[in-house]
Amino acid sequence: MADSLRIYNTLTRKKEVFEPLHPGHVGLYVCGPTVYGDAHLGHARPAISFDVLYRYLTHLGYKVRYVRNITDVGHLEQDADEGEDKVARKARLEKMEPMEVVQYYMNRYHENMRQLNVLPPSIEPMASGHIIEQQQMVNRILQNGYAYEKNGSVYFDLKKYSETFPYGKLSGRVMDDLMTYTRELEGQEEKKHPFDFALWKKAGPAHLMKWPSPWGEGFPGWHLECSVMSTRYLGETFDIHGGGMDLVFPHHECEIAQSTAALGKSSVRYWMHNNMVTLNGQKMGKSLGNAVSLEEFFSGNHSLIEKAYSPMTIRFFILQAHYRSTVDFSNPALQAAEKGLERLFNGMRTLEKLKPAAQTTGWSNSEFRDACYAAMNDDLQTPLVISQLFEAVRYAHSVQAGTESITAFDLEELMRLFKTFAIEILGLHPEESGFSSRLPAALMDLIIRLRSEARKRKDFTTADEIRNELEKLGIILKDSKEGTEWEMKE
Ligand code: ZN
Repeated sequence: MADSLRIYNTLTRKKEVFEPLHPGHVGLYVCGPTVYGDAHLGHARPAISFDVLYRYLTHLGYKVRYVRNITDVGHLEQDADEGEDKVARKARLEKMEPMEVVQYYMNRYHENMRQLNVLPPSIEPMASGHIIEQQQMVNRILQNGYAYEKNGSVYFDLKKYSETFPYGKLSGRVMDDLMTYTRELEGQEEKKHPFDFALWKKAGPAHLMKWPSPWGEGFPGWHLECSVMSTRYLGETFDIHGGGMDLVFPHHECEIAQSTAALGKSSVRYWMHNNMVTLNGQKMGKSLGNAVSLEEFFSGNHSLIEKAYSPMTIRFFILQAHYRSTVDFSNPALQAAEKGLERLFNGMRTLEKLKPAAQTTGWSNSEFRDACYAAMNDDLQTPLVISQLFEAVRYAHSVQAGTESITAFDLEELMRLFKTFAIEILGLHPEESGFSSRLPAALMDLIIRLRSEARKRKDFTTADEIRNELEKLGIILKDSKEGTEWEMKE
């Protein structure tokens, strides 16, 4: 390998050489979804970005423990300390049990992840399964003097904390500014200062998800669950914590404060954040009417989407940008990605068919390999890996055209390297590329054309045979003046 892996640490704002705490092992924690609705592009980006990190670390020979949580309780509207719990609200509107809502959307999330070829994490803990541990951490923070109890709720004392520890290092926010600019919010009068945040919230009588605690019936704060579940499974100090850039403040900043207040140290060694996605240049959101779900991208069933895009097209499109750059989804850009992906896998098929020669000209496998590793080692530069793969595709066409040649030994090694980077590390799937999803339609066009040619020359036996055989396969042909349409039998 040319050099070692360097990753951009949000905390130091520098690319740092990655050195795990325990040689050969990596602890990786990524904030997972709050499951109260269908997954959208905002869920796909961190899942895919950190899937590539997980795959690459594994490829480098590390034994990775990858923890990605499911938030099923405590995530309130507006990500603040007031308002309804997102899961409970959905349960009330749909007349479902909160856990029914969680299971329903978790199953759909897992299916979307499978479609995007995102590997499942090693551990997928749920907040509601760690109530005792969360109460224990609240207790430790209380004992250490960085929290206070008020009317059955426990709040983090940010002012007290900031006297001893720096707050705001991750997001670059200055404590004094926060103190000055924070608005007095309604319902916040229990707090010593509006910027304090809830570790434990008292639950009202109508509240659906609540547990007994030393402070009365209540539920844990959203920020607390990640501090608890990460240290529970990865230790009080662990290697990498990832998530979307929108979580830097307040979620991750609060996680650092909680862990430091409870354990005396910030648990995370490397903080990594993926940038956000936009759709047609606009931020996505339910209120903006442009929150297209992954399901709708895959089916094409949304007014902003011109056609169905395969999960691999979405994955490829996301990886064409560096994870710290913004990505803007649009129909033309996705259609270009679809063609690019098709070209990549057509190139791989061309490689498989090449005839080896006595010597190799115009290609160096070691240069190709070094360039791919250098790109991955430079903070996961997936766009550069993709451009290297396209170099290999161009070379394959030159060999096919006879302008270059390659030995059997070099061809085998090139195929191996190509598959390592495209399939194993980037996680792209040839079977699920745009090529295969368009193949059935293209084949049907061909069959229908052959049948209408048979009818033109009055060969009705052949035309009828095609119709009858297709019907046995569940495909119905409909003839009209405009031509022949086909559909699958219900
Ligand atoms: Zn989190």
